[in-house]
Amino acid sequence: MAHAEIPKALYRRFRTLLIANRGEIACRVIRTARAMGLRTVAVYSEADANALHVTEADEAVLIGPARARDSYLSIERILEAARKTGAEAIHPGYGFLSESAEFAQACADAGLIFVGPTADMITAMGSKSGSKALMEKAGVPLVPGYHGEAQDDDILAKAADKIGFPLLVKASAGGGGRGMRVVRSAAELAPAIVSAKREAKAAFGDDRMLIEKYVDNPRHIEVQIVGDSHGNLVSLFERECTLQRRHQKVIEEAPSPTLNDAQREAVCAAARKAAGAVNYVGAGTIEFVSDGKEVFFIEMNTRLQVEHPVTELITGVDLVEWQLRVAFGEKLPLAQDQIRLNGHAIEARVYAENPHKNFMPSVGRIRTWRTPAETNGLRIDAGYREGDAVSPNYDAMLAKVIAWAPTRDAAINRLNRGLEETDIRGIVTNTPFLSALVTHPDVRANTIDTGFIERELKALTPGSATPGDLELCAAVAAIVASEKQVARAAQTSPWQTAGWMPVGRRQRVFRFKHGADEQRATLNYGSGPATISIGDREVGFEASAADGVYFDLTLDGSRSRNVSVIEGHELYLRTRNGRFDIHWVDPFGGDDEEQVGEDKIVAPLPGTVVALLAEEGATLEKGAAILTLEVMKMEQTLRAPFAGVLKNIKCKVGDIVQEGVELAEVEPLAE
Ligand code: ADP
Ligand code: ADP
Ligand code: MG
Repeated sequence: MAHAEIPKALYRRFRTLLIANRGEIACRVIRTARAMGLRTVAVYSEADANALHVTEADEAVLIGPARARDSYLSIERILEAARKTGAEAIHPGYGFLSESAEFAQACADAGLIFVGPTADMITAMGSKSGSKALMEKAGVPLVPGYHGEAQDDDILAKAADKIGFPLLVKASAGGGGRGMRVVRSAAELAPAIVSAKREAKAAFGDDRMLIEKYVDNPRHIEVQIVGDSHGNLVSLFERECTLQRRHQKVIEEAPSPTLNDAQREAVCAAARKAAGAVNYVGAGTIEFVSDGKEVFFIEMNTRLQVEHPVTELITGVDLVEWQLRVAFGEKLPLAQDQIRLNGHAIEARVYAENPHKNFMPSVGRIRTWRTPAETNGLRIDAGYREGDAVSPNYDAMLAKVIAWAPTRDAAINRLNRGLEETDIRGIVTNTPFLSALVTHPDVRANTIDTGFIERELKALTPGSATPGDLELCAAVAAIVASEKQVARAAQTSPWQTAGWMPVGRRQRVFRFKHGADEQRATLNYGSGPATISIGDREVGFEASAADGVYFDLTLDGSRSRNVSVIEGHELYLRTRNGRFDIHWVDPFGGDDEEQVGEDKIVAPLPGTVVALLAEEGATLEKGAAILTLEVMKMEQTLRAPFAGVLKNIKCKVGDIVQEGVELAEVEPLAE
């Protein structure tokens, strides 16, 4: 594509920007747009009526029901919202329509400015196969593989044979690590293609595949580039995103701790060459995998990326501001030699998911949302706040915690502190896992590859430690304080609530469960100072609520500040010894320990049945796959809880099922 083909009229000054996205990226774009004096328009689905991005924009338009296809992915409804509000430009964020050439073209046809490249550039670079063919011509090094048009089974099988194993089967239209399978032998190829195609069809409406050699011990290195409509194109250094799970980034940092200066310059030059091949306009990322010696192009993302803040923190450039200025038709504010690298930045993605349950997404209402102040090199990009619902319809990313410091070590320390001071309750999040990850010695030493998380999963998801005296005392403090609050709200005397009497010496026994272990703490109170007895030890006990979830505890004269949160009978504690989840055993009973319905296979979350993997009447081993559900865009396979016979399949492929619905039944094998 020749440079002259960029129609100048596509990029011009505007005053009103519509953000066709939700969550943290919508909030992020709104922040810069407002700072530049633009009027902002949010769009939202029925599930997001009270979402943060809606309240942060100057105007907001309801565009449809929760399902993304009917709202955030509806080109028609978004254009309609732009027309209604007089928006002149649309920022697509990432995900959703951000890499849709059809959307970019529809904007242009409607006389709207698409904040991003032209539809032609997206078409050229948006498909992994197409972009690899282009890069091959431009002389950018590629991972060896097959990226041809023909998709017949035998052509793919022959290509695989020629490339050799292990290899990767990848959806050409893929993104977010979906539609991709590692294949280690010829026998695994056919089933991998079937399942990758199914995932790709559902997620991207396109099931064309390419095949690539799987690079050994791979590292992910990518380069941020920005081009303007005057033919200027610069790179803003690289990011390393090697810490991944299921090919999806978890931690990202800049610059890469793996490259030396010469390698850094080489990869940035390769990226400029790649983007230059299409006279790229807008922000984009050129992604490479590296075997530790060489880098190979894998794809280009023709949009802003989740991890863009680490680049912003080391360069001082606001990438959203640059995107908007390019959309105004301006020249890039800096030339290549004016872009300097300063210090080190690292980002962690906070997800609503449970690392102890195979990272199953967690949905529900956020009851507590506390993030640290944005001082001391910390930045928080959030899309949620207290009281918000996390919907099963969208990506489970809640926020990003990002840290900058002069050195990598110091940046890691700041990030970890930021994660430890992040408390999100009501749903399960991955923050403890992220803390364990960033402080792992191999991460510090940078002796990692993209398989690191999978290999180290056990060490990264430790069960919570057994609570000690400090934790049990903190638990008692939280329970007593919450009872006092209830008493105050009911305007009764706190002494009238169960167990509190003003005269004489009284005792109250608290029972706690942590896994299968039970622990007891006895509060001795009444006349004279309170104490707590645990086993045969007795400590002086004083507690005062400090600020929100913080408690000051004084035990035998030593004061410490701890986090204690009680939700129903579940206690969450953070003390100097770490994080603890404890169950308070209801003194009035009602703690039913029977696990009911274990033989029932139940949908853990709302989802769609995408595959049935066993037949009725089949004898199953413990752990055998029964069916696959797609939940929040990820496939989750439900397995037999014990050896048994599959009795009853109560769903079929394509069913949309609600949480808790019984899908099948397994009858245990008679002993
Ligand atoms: P990739 O992993 O495809 O190289 P990114 O690292 O930029 O690219 O991640 C983009 C992913 O972020 C999307 O594929 C999607 O899963 C997720 N995503 C999309 N929209 C949102 C959003 N509004 N909030 C949070 N996450 C999102
Ligand atoms: P997506 O669009 O989902 O981001 P990518 O092609 O960027 O797809 O691949 C996602 C991740 O998978 C990469 O970041 C990298 O870790 C891994 N990966 C991709 N291609 C290869 C390869 N050929 N060899 C080894 N790992 C790869
Ligand atoms: Mg990628």
